Amino acid sequence: MDRPLEDKVAVVTGASRGIGRAIALELARRGASVVVNYRHNAEAAAEVVAAIEAAGGQGLAVQADVGDFEQAAGLIQAALNAFGHLDILVNNAGTTRDQLLMLMKEEDWDEVLRTNLKSVFNCCKAAARPMVRQRQGRIINITSISGIVGQGGQTNYAASKAGIIGFTKSLAKELGPRNITVNAVAPGFIPTDLTAAMPEEWKQRVIEMTPLRRMGRPEEVAYAVAFLASDEAAFITGEILTVDGGLVMQG
Ligand code: NAP
Repeated sequence: MDRPLEDKVAVVTGASRGIGRAIALELARRGASVVVNYRHNAEAAAEVVAAIEAAGGQGLAVQADVGDFEQAAGLIQAALNAFGHLDILVNNAGTTRDQLLMLMKEEDWDEVLRTNLKSVFNCCKAAARPMVRQRQGRIINITSISGIVGQGGQTNYAASKAGIIGFTKSLAKELGPRNITVNAVAPGFIPTDLTAAMPEEWKQRVIEMTPLRRMGRPEEVAYAVAFLASDEAAFITGEILTVDGGLVMQG
């Protein structure tokens, strides 16, 4: 295969499982050296690096809680130390603590906001300076259609994902003059550990509401991210690309 991202270095947060794993593998398949970030699951992250290396690529697993300012800075520094530069940052790490507002605990709000939104601030803040110095860079944030249309039981999650959208557009305006694009990808329902606890009848309802009548695959989100990281996407910034089988159109 053609390797259009040869010589590029990417950091993918939350890349040990699910969508992040698929993004790391796809960027590597296109030639990028990939830093595979994880929080707890060292074994799964090592497996992703092994798969990248088995396919002839370069990968590095780095443990960091990206909700923590210092650890996020350490992650970006680890990428710079290992590969000398940073071209692509994918802010993918995320979590849920679904609950109706009246039953939601303060720690459920705080944990989701720090993991999903503060992490994006933390990693972008650390990555912006080296990207500005290089006069090029790609930042891709993973939001959700919940952040666009809202979802009962997800006030914390939807707020964090809507926050990512405002953040993405604002940073796109700030960094555009420095030749750095900032975009977001908004997946619909993708079977991963995050959605595993969804009741079967809810899954069926989602499939019925989705114009393409199915859930998505992690790889289908990864292709959108790889496109936004590519040279072909050089004139796209501040964009929110939904990868949802059309579900967002149902409101
Ligand atoms: P997942 O399977 O639960 O994987 C979550 C990943 O994030 C894991 O690699 C986990 O690392 C990592 N992570 C969690 N907290 C972290 C932290 N504080 N620091 C560093 N890494 C952390 O989730 P997923 O479904 O792939 O979701 C990935 C992204 O897509 C999330 O932002 C999610 O909100 C978004 N999304 C998902 C869906 C969907 O239907 N699945 C839909 C819309 C948007 P460990 O393995 O070490 O725990």
